[in-house]
Amino acid sequence: MTLTDIARFSVRRASGHTPELELPPAGHFIGGSFVPGSSGAQTEIVDPTTGQSFASVAEGTADDVDAAVAAAVRAQPGWGATTPKERSEALSKIADIIEASHAVLEALESANTGKPQSVSEDDVSSAVDTFRFMAGAGRALSSLAAGDYVAGHTSVILREPIGVVGVITPWNYPLLMAAWKLAPILAAGNSVVLKPSEQTPLTTLKLMELIAGVLPDGVLNVVTGLGPVVGARLADHPDINLVAVTGSVGSGKAVASLAGSTVKRVHLELGGKAPVLIYADADLAAAATALRTAGFWNSGQECGSACRVLVHESVAEEFTELLVREVSTLVVGDPAAGADVEIGPMVSEAHFARVAGFLQRALDAGITAAIGGRPLEGPGYFIAPTVLVNVPAGAEAAREEIFGPVITVETFSDEQEVIRRANDTPYGLAASVWTSDARLSMSVPRKLDFGTVWVNSHLVLANEVPWGGFKGSGYGRDLSLYALEDFSRTKHVMINHSA
Ligand code: NAD
Repeated sequence: MTLTDIARFSVRRASGHTPELELPPAGHFIGGSFVPGSSGAQTEIVDPTTGQSFASVAEGTADDVDAAVAAAVRAQPGWGATTPKERSEALSKIADIIEASHAVLEALESANTGKPQSVSEDDVSSAVDTFRFMAGAGRALSSLAAGDYVAGHTSVILREPIGVVGVITPWNYPLLMAAWKLAPILAAGNSVVLKPSEQTPLTTLKLMELIAGVLPDGVLNVVTGLGPVVGARLADHPDINLVAVTGSVGSGKAVASLAGSTVKRVHLELGGKAPVLIYADADLAAAATALRTAGFWNSGQECGSACRVLVHESVAEEFTELLVREVSTLVVGDPAAGADVEIGPMVSEAHFARVAGFLQRALDAGITAAIGGRPLEGPGYFIAPTVLVNVPAGAEAAREEIFGPVITVETFSDEQEVIRRANDTPYGLAASVWTSDARLSMSVPRKLDFGTVWVNSHLVLANEVPWGGFKGSGYGRDLSLYALEDFSRTKHVMINHSA
């Protein structure tokens, strides 16, 4: 039996009646209530398991953004003047509401993105934890103690909100990425205008419907619409003090360049292409099992995905066989086809065509698919879980962010060479190192140019620790006290008390 014969993936379809979705109102959420868009134009929302439209939302304009920013400007001073305890109580209430509405949010998230149920469940429970963590951490946010550094003068460092923050989120984790931004931004006393991805706005709008009334009107606003219209206006609006983007490198560059016109602060969480360094002494079975999840979570549409293996040549064959066996057991299907489905469709037809294009070009270039390597039969945008082997250094599939269920395998022979190759990428978000050598487990992470480096693990996150990249993956940190610092500002007040 050759490795290619090991599995022929097919798409498991939902049978029978799927429960009714509780769709959110279709307008923008501005000043505490839903309002229609100023243009009347609508964006269709598509189910990626069928390609059929099942909802529509307002396609926002720059005028809609201006109305939302005006509401946020009015609301911010009052919100910024509340105590950390009061803000903490509001965030805890939001966490409780999300938790109580988890089933509604999970169903909507899976319907809009095609995510397997287990991923939507994890997204919603992680969003709850983010609000709970920030509810507590916001009360612990502090600065240097007051001190006398000049004779007769006392210095006090105040920590203040930044003001009005614009947020732009992606389609791969619509609710979770909103939570990662909103929780620290609100905890730090800012008001917000958020634009969800035009492809996946439903859970963000549902969240607004569910939590309306928890925050003072205007503190939290959502405008739906396209990146180059609504996103661009958030980036160049003179009354927005910081703009935060989670998305592709191209969108991050566009936003940062527009933000320059008003010298506003920019917080960027962009793409990734995580290298996975597997040394000869690694526990190969453990690595293969971990990559079954870490390389294919959210159908590979994950910025920290373990997608680029660099394995020592002496164990490459053994590791590849273990990995392919693991991947062969993945269950592909509609999210509604069962709780055990692990791989859903790509989010859109355009993204499906993009991933399929990467695979076709890799095969055309002589790279081998040890498993998968092709789109699956429609309807919907499914791609077979894939492991590409014999991938030469510098190949497109190993350099570019494919953002689908695809792992590439390259081999290496030298400890130093593999570090150079791992770093030879425009991205710097995440990486992992697999070894049982204590020296390598301490020394290699220090040499890797990535914001997160796991040792003998991959894609394990916690709210207490920061997430964010270097180089083309952007700057700024989500999660942890570092996010609270990013979304607040320090002010030095110096008091002259000399006689
Ligand atoms: P995308 O860049 O296409 O879109 C992200 C957001 O930016 C959307 O809301 C979009 O409307 C907006 N946008 C697009 N062009 C814009 C412009 N010119 N001005 C202002 N806004 C604009 O990204 P995506 O396809 O939705 O998401 C996938 C990308 O996000 C991947 O590259 C992935 O790695 C990255 N991502 C990164 C992280 C992280 O934490 N670093 C997390 C999730 C996703």
